Amino acid sequence: MCPPVEETPANGQANGTNGDNGHPGYSAVRSTPTKHVSPYQPVGDFLSNVSRFKIIESTLREGEQFANAYFDLDAKIKIAKALDEFGVDYIELTSPAASEQSRSDCEAICKLGLKAKILTHVRCSMADAKIAVETGVDGLDVVIGTSSYLREHSHGKDMTYIKNTALEVIEFVKSKGKEIRFSSEDSFRSDLVDLLSIYSAVDKVGVNRVGIADTVGCASPRQVYDLVRTLRGVVGCDIETHFHNDSGCAIANAYCALEAGATHVDTSVLGIGERNGITPLGGFMARMIVADRDYVLSKYNIKKLKDIEDLVADLVEVNVPFNNYITGFCAFTHKAGIHAKAILNNPSTYEIISPADFGMSRYVHFASRITGWNAIKSRADQLGLTMTDAEYKECTAEIKKMADIKKITLDDTDAIIRNFHHNQVHNTNKPLLPDLTKDEAEKLNQVDQKIESVPEKRQLDATVEADAEDRANKKTRSTAA
Ligand SMILES: [Zn+2]
Repeated sequence: MCPPVEETPANGQANGTNGDNGHPGYSAVRSTPTKHVSPYQPVGDFLSNVSRFKIIESTLREGEQFANAYFDLDAKIKIAKALDEFGVDYIELTSPAASEQSRSDCEAICKLGLKAKILTHVRCSMADAKIAVETGVDGLDVVIGTSSYLREHSHGKDMTYIKNTALEVIEFVKSKGKEIRFSSEDSFRSDLVDLLSIYSAVDKVGVNRVGIADTVGCASPRQVYDLVRTLRGVVGCDIETHFHNDSGCAIANAYCALEAGATHVDTSVLGIGERNGITPLGGFMARMIVADRDYVLSKYNIKKLKDIEDLVADLVEVNVPFNNYITGFCAFTHKAGIHAKAILNNPSTYEIISPADFGMSRYVHFASRITGWNAIKSRADQLGLTMTDAEYKECTAEIKKMADIKKITLDDTDAIIRNFHHNQVHNTNKPLLPDLTKDEAEKLNQVDQKIESVPEKRQLDATVEADAEDRANKKTRSTAA
């Protein structure tokens, strides 16, 4: 379901910044609280799990495969605790068979007593499984390549061998009282008959989940839907999914998998992982809060998202992308005049996600040539200045003019509004923006001359002058009284 965006007014603060989100020309705005029902209600489906999915968070496994990642135990503990506070269902760790440090880190994280279940990701072999069950994990995510590419060029095993090993490992792990998932690798380039036959076999011996992995990032949402839906008809156990983002479909694929009956989705913070990574936790939350806001809010502490992303970004020494879902610096910034006007009236017009749900603020960009007079009126209001509509329009025209000759900042815009207001009230002729260079002043002069020839501008001037006269008359009257 597409829930209404419940509006909580922006508080003018952006996660500790002073309300201008660190970017010149932007300012937090307050909007009128409104409730409205979105007309976009997706059709329900008895198979769909978009309202009851679970997250397997793999920053500490897939994320360790990110080119820049090096997590020591201290970093792993910080990430694990942050993910646990966020409320992820599972935390997946690198195989303890990878190295002695990986094994002891795995044990240390199991001892933290987190609410999230701890999994480790191991090859489908008895040797790995034996090491893993001794670490204290709640479950094992077992994986083996099933595509002809991997069978030929990676492990060199045939399907009969894979099936027999899988059954042996599953039986062993279950005998130790642990959860077990069996996953193919590169599932979308594996033979469908092979896949279904092995999944059916492991389902019969009581595996907890089977996993579908788009290891190379080639799958499209439609392919995902078809494969998961087919698999749903073959197995009774849960279905976990893992999507790489090489062709940009990782979030859409995760969503389609849930629609087709998958139950678990693998994510990592900022999507970090092998190559360009997997379904990002934040982007997945953005998708799911649009699908079922109540479920997301009831399960996950999404106000922690920005902190977790900042933590991981710091640890792997990358910046959070400008266009990141939810937390990118412009994710809730509105610039065009038409958008700003509508947002100021009712944020749902141009926002499907409420920034307040994530502890974020929305911004309206005032300092540009495409700003509108409603945005300027709102900014003047924040500055405690009142003008007539005609004056706001004239002031906006001055801002646009200035933005045509140079890149202006929020401070510049505020100065123009203040000086314009001063000139109207005191009938003075202060320069709207002091300290223009000679070149800028010349350009401004040329723009002025061009605009003088525009009839609408002359008309606007006349209205503003009439307003000013009216204001002067009122003043005289009140002074006389
Ligand atoms: Zn992967």
